Amino acid sequence: MTETILILGGSLAGLHVAHAILKKRSKNVKVIMVSKNSHFYMNLASVRAIVPGQIKDDELFTPIETALSRYPRESWDLIIGTAAHADFENKTVEIVVHDDSTTRTISYDQLVLATGSRSADPSMPWKASGSYKDAVASVHKTAEQVQAAQHIVVAGAGGTGIEVAGELGYEYGKTKNIVLLCSGDKLANGHGIATDAANELKKLNVAIKYGARVQKTQPTAQGKTDVVLSDGETITTDLYLPTIGLIPNTEYIPTPYCNSDPNSRTVLVDDYLRVRGAEDVWACGDIVGKPRAGFLITQAQAKTVAKNIEAALGGAKPSVHKGMPVDVFVCSVGRSRGVGRMNNSIKFPSLMVWAIKGRTLGLNYVEKYIGGSIA
Ligand SMILES: Cc1cc2nc3c(=O)[nH]c(=O)nc-3n(C[C@H](O)[C@H](O)[C@H](O)COP(=O)(O)OP(=O)(O)OC[C@H]3O[C@@H](n4cnc5c(N)ncnc54)[C@H](O)[C@@H]3O)c2cc1C
Repeated sequence: MTETILILGGSLAGLHVAHAILKKRSKNVKVIMVSKNSHFYMNLASVRAIVPGQIKDDELFTPIETALSRYPRESWDLIIGTAAHADFENKTVEIVVHDDSTTRTISYDQLVLATGSRSADPSMPWKASGSYKDAVASVHKTAEQVQAAQHIVVAGAGGTGIEVAGELGYEYGKTKNIVLLCSGDKLANGHGIATDAANELKKLNVAIKYGARVQKTQPTAQGKTDVVLSDGETITTDLYLPTIGLIPNTEYIPTPYCNSDPNSRTVLVDDYLRVRGAEDVWACGDIVGKPRAGFLITQAQAKTVAKNIEAALGGAKPSVHKGMPVDVFVCSVGRSRGVGRMNNSIKFPSLMVWAIKGRTLGLNYVEKYIGGSIA
């Protein structure tokens, strides 16, 4: 009997699980992947892709079909569509197919929730919130705006904000005004990298404004943007790039299975990464968002989910997810330097962060996700 493994989301988490299952079993298993985006998007590199001429589209985006087509054709299916409603009791998911806007109801034996998260402002390219076309258009439009702007405000001084400001400072620090708004008195929520990151950004002529919480933004008659801060100050800029907020893509999941916090409606999982209260439903990556949304955390979770599905198919017991043995937080700051720490204490040299992250910003992983060696 063929078992259907339905995977929702075709990014870091979803592709990892698909490869792990298909590499082990191409017989008696059908993997159906559903993704809003027809392409795998290496979003870690988006911060550099907004600097014109730095990264080509085909380095950033690769068709998901290329990854799946290395397995026997009967063992997989790819649907470009949006998961609209999951029914864990009847083991079905309603999918709105993008091509013709029809709704398909798909039954599964095992379900993987890997629909990740999106930027609070969906027009920003940091995550792919819509289709492939939308994602490409967002990268291109932002790059054109960056090129044209003389004054740029980056709002939000977490990892993404620091990296965006660093890329802009590296390219334009001497020719444009780059301002990074930080709502607190330290970057990265006071993480151990805060002082090093601030020093690196200063070297790139990025102006950091602390205690600057954005209250609202409004377009001006001259085509600029007024950024109004909570203390009443208004900064008028040519380009406003918000990096604040990450929203879990869980709208299709019924309420009891999700966190009740309206600001972070992540899915609730047990120690096996099984969705709490549901049978044969697993989740990994940003949709879980614990201990935080992160690339290495996503990889570790995808590995556990694949292993536990394999166990379920073989009638064995699932394994407890062990998580990452250490917490690594690294930020590239421009194209030649970076900052990072392990467990918020042990500092990494700038050259090391450049070598492991800043040099490629994850683009070196694309072939692993497409070719399958990631799993
Ligand atoms: C700029 C930036 C830099 C980063 N750098 C680092 C780093 O250095 N280190 C680190 O650890 N982490 C980093 N991260 C975090 C990392 O990108 C995420 O943890 C990772 O992308 C999570 O992968 P995912 O597969 O869970 O979800 P996502 O990448 O969010 O992908 C979700 C997928 O699901 C699809 N989807 C969404 N909703 C639906 C739906 N309803 N139906 C069907 N498909 C859907 C989307 O199209 C997308 O393809 C960074 C994030 C950003 C934004």
